[in-house]
Amino acid sequence: MKPKVFVTRKIPENVLNKMKSVCEVQIWEKEDIPVPRDVLEQQINKVEGIFCLLTDKIDEDLLQRAEKLKVISNMAVGYNNIDVAAATRRGIMVTNTPGVLTETTADLTFALLMATARRLVEASDYLKQGKWRTWSPMLLTGQDIFGATIGIIGMGRIGEAVAKRARGFSMKVLYYNRSRKPNVEEKLGATYVDLQSLLKESDYVCLLTPYTPETHHMIGKEELSLMKKTAILINTSRGGVVDEKALYEALKNGTIWAAGLDVFEQEPIPVDHPLLSLPNVVALPHIGSASLKTRMKMAELTAENMLQALAGKVPKYLVNTELIRA
Ligand code: NAP
Repeated sequence: MKPKVFVTRKIPENVLNKMKSVCEVQIWEKEDIPVPRDVLEQQINKVEGIFCLLTDKIDEDLLQRAEKLKVISNMAVGYNNIDVAAATRRGIMVTNTPGVLTETTADLTFALLMATARRLVEASDYLKQGKWRTWSPMLLTGQDIFGATIGIIGMGRIGEAVAKRARGFSMKVLYYNRSRKPNVEEKLGATYVDLQSLLKESDYVCLLTPYTPETHHMIGKEELSLMKKTAILINTSRGGVVDEKALYEALKNGTIWAAGLDVFEQEPIPVDHPLLSLPNVVALPHIGSASLKTRMKMAELTAENMLQALAGKVPKYLVNTELIRA
C-alpha cells in the first residue's frame, strides 16, 4: 500500500507527479492561500508525511493528533513554523531545504540593500507620478554602497554569500555570529566583532540569523539607538528578529536612515501598518528565494527529503538529527 501524504499548497506538476508515483497524495490547491487549520487538523492523523510551507504552523496541539506521521518536510531553510522539539518527542522527522536557496536569497538581500540605499522605489514612483521636472543637485540623493561598511549578523550560508557580494563592492565586512568563522575571515577578509561594535560601526546592518527564542527581537530600541543616523537595516531573515514598533520609531525619528524589509512579524503585513507609511522603508512580500529555478529546486528537495524518510532512509536534510543518534 502506498503511504498517504498531504501537500499543503499547489506545487510544480513534475514534483507532484514524482510523489504520486510512490505515495497517495492529498493536496490543498483550492486557492493560493494557506491551508485552513481545520483541514490541517483533519489531514494530520491520516497521513505519514506532510509537505508544508513556512505559512503552516505545525505546533504541539496539531502534532498530538498525528498518529501515523513520520515526516514533516518543510519547503524552506527556516523552520520556525514547526515545533521541532514536539516532533522529536514523537519520533517525527523534520526536514528543510538548505543550500539550494543560498545564492538567490543573497542576491535579493543585496538587491534590497541597493534599492534602499539608492531610494529606487521612491525614485520610480516619483517619475511615474509625473513629479520629475528637471535634473536637480540634491534630488533623491541616497547613501553610497561602494566602500561602505557592512555588518552581517548571522554569518551562515546566506551571510557568507552576502559577504562575497559585498567584497565585490569593496565594502569592509564586519560580522557577528554565535560562533566565530575563521574560514570566512580568511577567505573574505571579514572581521568578527561583538554585536554592539557591529551596530556602531556599520553603514548597513544585515540580519541573517534563524528565528529562535534567542534571536527574538534581537534588534530593538537599544540596538537601533547604537546605529549611525545614516545607517540602513536590511532584514531578510524572519520578521520576529526585529522589534517592529521600535524600528518604526527609529525610522520616523531619524535614529537610523532607512530599512529594507523582506519579512515581517505578521505576514502578510497589514497594508495600514505604520511601517508601510514611511518613505524610507522598502518592503517586499517575503520573496528572498523567489526565483523560478530556486523554487523548483526547493520543491524537488522537499519531496526528496519526504520520500527518503518514508522509505525508511535518513533524509538528506534532517533537522532533528538526534532521532538517528537515539
Ligand atoms: P545558516 O547557514 O544556519 O546560518 C545561520 C547563522 O546564524 C549561523 O551562522 C548561526 O550560527 C547564526 N546564529 C544562529 N543563532 C544565532 C544567535 N542567537 N546569534 C548569532 N548568530 C546566530 O542558515 P542560512 O541558510 O544562512 O539561513 C539563515 C536564515 O535566513 C534562515 O533561518 C531563514 O530564517 C532566513 N531565510 C529567509 C529567506 C527569505 O525568503 N527572506 C530565504 C532563506 C532563508 P552558528 O554557525 O553558530 O550555528
